[in-house]
Amino acid sequence: MCAWKREWRLRERTPQNSVDPLYASAIGFLGLAFGSFLNVCIYRLPLGLSVVTPRSKCPGCKQLIAFYDNLPVISWMLLRGRCRRCRTHISPRYLFVELLTGALFLGCYAYFGLTLETVKYCAFGFLLLGLIFTDAETKLLPDKLTLPGLGLGVFFSLLVPVHDLASQFLPGMLNLPFSADISARLLSLLDSLLGAALGASFIYGAGAVYLRWRGAEGMGFGDVKLMAMVGAFLGIKLTIFTIFTASLAGSLFGLTTVLVVWIKRTHRFARRLANLQAARRRGWQSAQMVYRHYQMPFGVFLGSMALLALFVGNQFLRWYGSFWW
Ligand SMILES: [Zn+2]
Repeated sequence: MCAWKREWRLRERTPQNSVDPLYASAIGFLGLAFGSFLNVCIYRLPLGLSVVTPRSKCPGCKQLIAFYDNLPVISWMLLRGRCRRCRTHISPRYLFVELLTGALFLGCYAYFGLTLETVKYCAFGFLLLGLIFTDAETKLLPDKLTLPGLGLGVFFSLLVPVHDLASQFLPGMLNLPFSADISARLLSLLDSLLGAALGASFIYGAGAVYLRWRGAEGMGFGDVKLMAMVGAFLGIKLTIFTIFTASLAGSLFGLTTVLVVWIKRTHRFARRLANLQAARRRGWQSAQMVYRHYQMPFGVFLGSMALLALFVGNQFLRWYGSFWW
Protein backbone atom coordinates (compact mmCIF):
# COMPACT_ATOMS: atom_id res chain seq x y z
CA MET A 1 0.00 0.00 0.00
CA CYS A 2 1.53 3.32 -0.98
CA ALA A 3 2.15 5.96 1.69
CA TRP A 4 -0.51 8.29 0.33
CA LYS A 5 -3.17 5.64 0.40
CA ARG A 6 -2.17 4.54 3.88
CA GLU A 7 -2.54 8.09 5.10
CA TRP A 8 -5.92 8.36 3.32
CA ARG A 9 -7.06 5.23 5.15
CA LEU A 10 -5.65 6.31 8.50
CA ARG A 11 -7.21 9.72 8.38
CA GLU A 12 -10.67 8.41 7.80
CA ARG A 13 -10.55 6.14 10.84
CA THR A 14 -8.87 8.07 13.60
CA PRO A 15 -10.72 11.21 14.62
CA GLN A 16 -8.18 13.42 16.32
CA ASN A 17 -9.16 14.28 19.84
CA SER A 18 -6.43 16.53 21.16
CA VAL A 19 -7.79 20.07 21.17
CA ASP A 20 -5.28 22.90 21.21
CA PRO A 21 -6.78 25.93 23.03
CA LEU A 22 -5.10 28.43 20.72
CA TYR A 23 -6.35 26.76 17.54
CA ALA A 24 -9.75 26.21 19.16
CA SER A 25 -10.22 29.90 19.96
CA ALA A 26 -9.01 30.96 16.52
CA ILE A 27 -11.42 28.53 14.83
CA GLY A 28 -14.24 29.57 17.18
CA PHE A 29 -13.74 33.24 16.29
CA LEU A 30 -13.56 32.37 12.61
CA GLY A 31 -16.91 30.59 13.06
CA LEU A 32 -18.45 33.69 14.66
CA ALA A 33 -17.22 35.84 11.76
CA PHE A 34 -18.61 33.38 9.20
CA GLY A 35 -21.87 33.34 11.16
CA SER A 36 -22.04 37.10 10.88
CA PHE A 37 -21.61 36.83 7.10
CA LEU A 38 -24.21 34.05 7.04
CA ASN A 39 -26.75 36.45 8.59
CA VAL A 40 -26.20 38.78 5.63
CA CYS A 41 -26.79 35.83 3.25
CA ILE A 42 -29.97 34.76 5.06
CA TYR A 43 -31.38 38.27 4.80
CA ARG A 44 -30.24 39.17 1.28
CA LEU A 45 -30.27 35.97 -0.83
CA PRO A 46 -34.07 35.45 -0.79
CA LEU A 47 -34.44 39.10 -1.90
CA GLY A 48 -32.03 38.53 -4.80
CA LEU A 49 -29.53 41.08 -3.39
CA SER A 50 -25.74 40.90 -3.51
CA VAL A 51 -24.11 39.59 -0.32
CA VAL A 52 -20.92 41.60 -0.93
CA THR A 53 -22.09 45.18 -1.49
CA PRO A 54 -23.44 47.51 -0.20
CA ARG A 55 -22.52 47.50 3.49
CA SER A 56 -25.23 46.55 5.98
CA LYS A 57 -27.85 49.13 6.86
CA CYS A 58 -30.39 49.26 9.64
CA PRO A 59 -33.78 48.22 8.21
CA GLY A 60 -35.40 50.95 10.35
CA CYS A 61 -33.40 54.17 9.85
CA LYS A 62 -31.44 53.01 6.73
CA GLN A 63 -28.16 54.23 8.27
CA LEU A 64 -24.97 52.30 7.59
CA ILE A 65 -24.07 50.10 10.54
CA ALA A 66 -20.66 51.07 11.97
CA PHE A 67 -18.09 48.27 12.22
CA TYR A 68 -18.13 48.44 16.05
CA ASP A 69 -21.89 47.80 15.99
CA ASN A 70 -21.41 44.88 13.62
CA LEU A 71 -19.12 42.70 15.74
CA PRO A 72 -20.44 39.15 16.07
CA VAL A 73 -22.37 38.40 19.29
CA ILE A 74 -20.81 41.28 21.31
CA SER A 75 -22.58 44.11 19.46
CA TRP A 76 -25.96 42.42 19.66
CA MET A 77 -25.50 41.84 23.40
CA LEU A 78 -24.26 45.40 24.12
CA LEU A 79 -27.09 47.00 22.14
CA ARG A 80 -29.57 44.45 23.54
CA GLY A 81 -30.84 43.61 20.05
CA ARG A 82 -31.67 47.17 18.98
CA CYS A 83 -30.29 49.69 16.50
CA ARG A 84 -28.05 52.28 18.24
CA ARG A 85 -29.78 55.21 16.49
CA CYS A 86 -33.45 54.36 16.03
CA ARG A 87 -33.83 51.47 18.52
CA THR A 88 -35.38 49.22 15.83
CA HIS A 89 -35.57 45.66 17.09
CA ILE A 90 -32.91 43.35 15.61
CA SER A 91 -33.95 39.70 15.51
CA PRO A 92 -32.25 37.33 18.00
CA ARG A 93 -31.68 35.16 14.90
CA TYR A 94 -28.52 37.25 14.31
CA LEU A 95 -27.17 36.14 17.67
CA PHE A 96 -28.28 32.50 17.26
CA VAL A 97 -26.74 32.08 13.81
CA GLU A 98 -23.42 33.56 14.95
CA LEU A 99 -23.27 31.37 18.05
CA LEU A 100 -24.35 28.25 16.15
CA THR A 101 -21.76 28.78 13.40
CA GLY A 102 -19.07 29.32 16.04
CA ALA A 103 -20.14 26.15 17.87
CA LEU A 104 -20.27 24.21 14.60
CA PHE A 105 -16.72 25.24 13.62
CA LEU A 106 -15.47 24.32 17.10
CA GLY A 107 -17.35 21.02 16.97
CA CYS A 108 -15.77 20.13 13.61
CA TYR A 109 -12.32 20.98 14.97
CA ALA A 110 -12.85 18.93 18.15
CA TYR A 111 -14.15 16.01 16.10
CA PHE A 112 -11.87 15.98 13.05
CA GLY A 113 -8.79 17.83 14.35
CA LEU A 114 -6.64 20.10 12.22
CA THR A 115 -7.44 18.30 8.95
CA LEU A 116 -9.06 18.84 5.58
CA GLU A 117 -12.15 17.09 7.00
CA THR A 118 -12.63 20.04 9.33
CA VAL A 119 -12.52 22.44 6.36
CA LYS A 120 -14.96 20.28 4.39
CA TYR A 121 -17.47 19.90 7.19
CA CYS A 122 -17.23 23.53 8.32
CA ALA A 123 -18.16 24.52 4.75
CA PHE A 124 -20.98 21.96 4.70
CA GLY A 125 -22.34 23.06 8.08
CA PHE A 126 -22.10 26.73 7.12
CA LEU A 127 -24.25 26.11 4.03
CA LEU A 128 -26.71 23.96 5.99
CA LEU A 129 -27.20 26.58 8.72
CA GLY A 130 -27.82 29.22 6.06
CA LEU A 131 -30.38 27.01 4.32
CA ILE A 132 -32.13 26.00 7.56
CA PHE A 133 -32.68 29.60 8.67
CA THR A 134 -33.60 30.88 5.21
CA ASP A 135 -36.17 28.10 4.81
CA ALA A 136 -37.59 28.78 8.30
CA GLU A 137 -37.95 32.50 7.61
CA THR A 138 -38.93 32.62 3.94
CA LYS A 139 -39.71 29.01 2.88
CA LEU A 140 -37.00 29.42 0.24
CA LEU A 141 -33.81 27.45 -0.33
CA PRO A 142 -31.69 29.78 -2.50
CA ASP A 143 -29.85 28.25 -5.47
CA LYS A 144 -26.92 30.48 -4.55
CA LEU A 145 -26.35 28.21 -1.52
CA THR A 146 -27.45 24.79 -2.78
CA LEU A 147 -25.78 24.72 -6.22
CA PRO A 148 -22.30 25.91 -5.19
CA GLY A 149 -22.76 23.53 -2.24
CA LEU A 150 -23.36 20.62 -4.61
CA GLY A 151 -20.22 21.54 -6.57
CA LEU A 152 -18.20 21.92 -3.37
CA GLY A 153 -19.38 18.55 -2.06
CA VAL A 154 -18.31 16.81 -5.28
CA PHE A 155 -14.98 18.67 -5.28
CA PHE A 156 -14.21 17.80 -1.65
CA SER A 157 -14.83 14.09 -2.35
CA LEU A 158 -11.52 14.17 -4.27
CA LEU A 159 -9.68 15.46 -1.19
CA VAL A 160 -11.51 13.84 1.73
CA PRO A 161 -12.77 10.27 1.32
CA VAL A 162 -16.55 9.94 1.38
CA HIS A 163 -16.01 6.29 2.34
CA ASP A 164 -19.35 4.95 1.27
CA LEU A 165 -20.68 1.91 -0.60
CA ALA A 166 -18.65 2.29 -3.83
CA SER A 167 -15.37 2.70 -1.90
CA GLN A 168 -16.27 -0.27 0.30
CA PHE A 169 -17.46 -2.79 -2.24
CA LEU A 170 -16.14 -1.87 -5.67
CA PRO A 171 -12.35 -2.26 -5.13
CA GLY A 172 -12.73 -6.05 -4.71
CA MET A 173 -14.80 -6.41 -7.87
CA LEU A 174 -13.17 -3.91 -10.13
CA ASN A 175 -9.58 -3.44 -11.21
CA LEU A 176 -9.12 0.17 -12.16
CA PRO A 177 -6.12 0.87 -14.41
CA PHE A 178 -4.88 3.65 -12.11
CA SER A 179 -2.52 3.93 -9.19
CA ALA A 180 -4.02 3.11 -5.80
CA ASP A 181 -4.48 6.68 -4.63
CA ILE A 182 -6.12 7.80 -7.86
CA SER A 183 -8.47 4.79 -7.69
CA ALA A 184 -9.36 5.69 -4.10
CA ARG A 185 -10.09 9.29 -5.10
CA LEU A 186 -12.19 8.20 -8.10
CA LEU A 187 -14.23 5.83 -5.97
CA SER A 188 -14.77 8.59 -3.43
CA LEU A 189 -15.95 10.83 -6.27
CA LEU A 190 -18.33 8.10 -7.40
CA ASP A 191 -19.67 7.84 -3.83
CA SER A 192 -20.30 11.57 -3.80
CA LEU A 193 -22.09 11.52 -7.18
CA LEU A 194 -24.20 8.51 -6.18
CA GLY A 195 -25.16 10.24 -2.91
CA ALA A 196 -26.20 13.37 -4.80
CA ALA A 197 -28.23 11.38 -7.33
CA LEU A 198 -29.96 9.34 -4.64
CA GLY A 199 -30.74 12.36 -2.44
CA ALA A 200 -32.16 14.38 -5.33
CA SER A 201 -34.18 11.58 -6.93
CA PHE A 202 -35.64 10.41 -3.62
CA ILE A 203 -36.96 13.88 -2.75
CA TYR A 204 -38.12 14.42 -6.34
CA GLY A 205 -40.03 11.11 -6.24
CA ALA A 206 -41.51 11.82 -2.80
CA GLY A 207 -42.61 15.26 -4.02
CA ALA A 208 -44.31 13.74 -7.08
CA VAL A 209 -46.15 11.17 -4.93
CA TYR A 210 -47.20 13.89 -2.49
CA LEU A 211 -48.45 16.09 -5.35
CA ARG A 212 -50.70 13.29 -6.63
CA TRP A 213 -51.87 12.32 -3.17
CA ARG A 214 -52.69 15.73 -1.74
CA GLY A 215 -52.88 17.81 -4.88
CA ALA A 216 -50.45 20.34 -3.42
CA GLU A 217 -46.75 20.84 -3.72
CA GLY A 218 -45.17 19.36 -0.61
CA MET A 219 -41.58 19.61 -1.65
CA GLY A 220 -40.13 22.06 -4.11
CA PHE A 221 -37.04 21.91 -6.27
CA GLY A 222 -35.22 23.69 -3.46
CA ASP A 223 -35.48 20.52 -1.36
CA VAL A 224 -34.31 18.41 -4.32
CA LYS A 225 -31.18 20.57 -4.73
CA LEU A 226 -30.61 20.67 -0.98
CA MET A 227 -30.55 16.86 -0.86
CA ALA A 228 -28.29 16.67 -3.92
CA MET A 229 -25.85 18.83 -1.96
CA VAL A 230 -26.21 16.73 1.21
CA GLY A 231 -25.69 13.54 -0.82
CA ALA A 232 -22.56 14.93 -2.46
CA PHE A 233 -21.04 15.71 0.95
CA LEU A 234 -22.17 12.64 2.87
CA GLY A 235 -22.63 9.73 0.42
CA ILE A 236 -25.52 7.29 0.13
CA LYS A 237 -25.76 5.82 3.62
CA LEU A 238 -25.89 9.08 5.51
CA THR A 239 -28.24 10.53 2.89
CA ILE A 240 -30.71 7.74 3.64
CA PHE A 241 -30.21 8.41 7.37
CA THR A 242 -30.91 12.12 6.77
CA ILE A 243 -34.09 11.55 4.76
CA PHE A 244 -35.42 8.94 7.16
CA THR A 245 -34.83 10.94 10.36
CA ALA A 246 -36.07 14.18 8.73
CA SER A 247 -39.33 12.49 7.68
CA LEU A 248 -39.74 11.17 11.21
CA ALA A 249 -39.02 14.56 12.81
CA GLY A 250 -41.24 16.36 10.28
CA SER A 251 -44.16 13.97 10.87
CA LEU A 252 -43.83 14.32 14.65
CA PHE A 253 -43.74 18.09 14.30
CA GLY A 254 -46.80 18.07 12.01
CA LEU A 255 -48.77 15.77 14.33
CA THR A 256 -47.89 17.87 17.37
CA THR A 257 -48.98 21.04 15.56
CA VAL A 258 -52.34 19.52 14.62
CA LEU A 259 -52.88 18.23 18.17
CA VAL A 260 -51.99 21.56 19.76
CA VAL A 261 -54.33 23.41 17.40
CA TRP A 262 -57.12 20.92 18.12
CA ILE A 263 -56.76 21.28 21.90
CA LYS A 264 -56.46 25.08 21.84
CA ARG A 265 -59.40 25.58 19.49
CA THR A 266 -61.55 23.11 21.42
CA HIS A 267 -60.90 25.12 24.59
CA ARG A 268 -61.80 28.34 22.81
CA PHE A 269 -65.00 26.92 21.30
CA ALA A 270 -65.91 25.32 24.64
CA ARG A 271 -66.09 28.80 26.18
CA ARG A 272 -68.54 29.93 23.49
CA LEU A 273 -70.53 26.75 22.87
CA ALA A 274 -72.33 25.06 25.73
CA ASN A 275 -71.97 21.64 24.15
CA LEU A 276 -68.49 20.09 24.60
CA GLN A 277 -69.13 17.59 21.80
CA ALA A 278 -69.80 20.40 19.33
CA ALA A 279 -66.72 22.29 20.57
CA ARG A 280 -64.55 19.22 19.93
CA ARG A 281 -65.98 18.83 16.45
CA ARG A 282 -65.38 22.49 15.59
CA GLY A 283 -61.87 22.24 17.05
CA TRP A 284 -61.17 19.17 14.93
CA GLN A 285 -62.39 21.00 11.81
CA SER A 286 -59.92 23.81 12.53
CA ALA A 287 -57.11 21.32 13.05
CA GLN A 288 -57.94 19.70 9.70
CA MET A 289 -57.84 23.10 8.01
CA VAL A 290 -54.38 23.68 9.47
CA TYR A 291 -53.28 20.23 8.32
CA ARG A 292 -54.50 20.94 4.80
CA HIS A 293 -53.06 24.41 4.41
CA TYR A 294 -49.97 24.45 6.57
CA GLN A 295 -46.80 24.31 4.48
CA MET A 296 -44.03 22.80 6.49
CA PRO A 297 -40.52 24.11 5.74
CA PHE A 298 -39.19 20.59 5.18
CA GLY A 299 -35.73 21.98 4.37
CA VAL A 300 -35.39 22.88 8.06
CA PHE A 301 -35.76 19.21 8.99
CA LEU A 302 -33.57 17.91 6.16
CA GLY A 303 -30.84 20.42 7.00
CA SER A 304 -30.92 19.76 10.75
CA MET A 305 -30.82 16.00 10.27
CA ALA A 306 -27.93 16.32 7.81
CA LEU A 307 -26.04 18.15 10.57
CA LEU A 308 -26.92 15.36 12.97
CA ALA A 309 -25.78 12.79 10.38
CA LEU A 310 -22.45 14.57 10.11
CA PHE A 311 -21.64 14.00 13.79
CA VAL A 312 -23.52 10.88 14.87
CA GLY A 313 -24.82 9.27 11.63
CA ASN A 314 -22.02 6.75 11.26
CA GLN A 315 -22.14 5.71 14.92
CA PHE A 316 -25.88 5.27 14.63
CA LEU A 317 -25.59 3.15 11.46
CA ARG A 318 -22.90 0.96 13.09
CA TRP A 319 -25.07 0.52 16.19
CA TYR A 320 -28.14 -0.21 14.08
CA GLY A 321 -26.17 -2.55 11.80
CA SER A 322 -24.93 -4.57 14.79
CA PHE A 323 -28.46 -5.93 15.21
CA TRP A 324 -28.62 -7.22 11.65
CA TRP A 325 -25.20 -8.45 10.60
ZN1 LIG B 1 -31.82 52.14 12.93
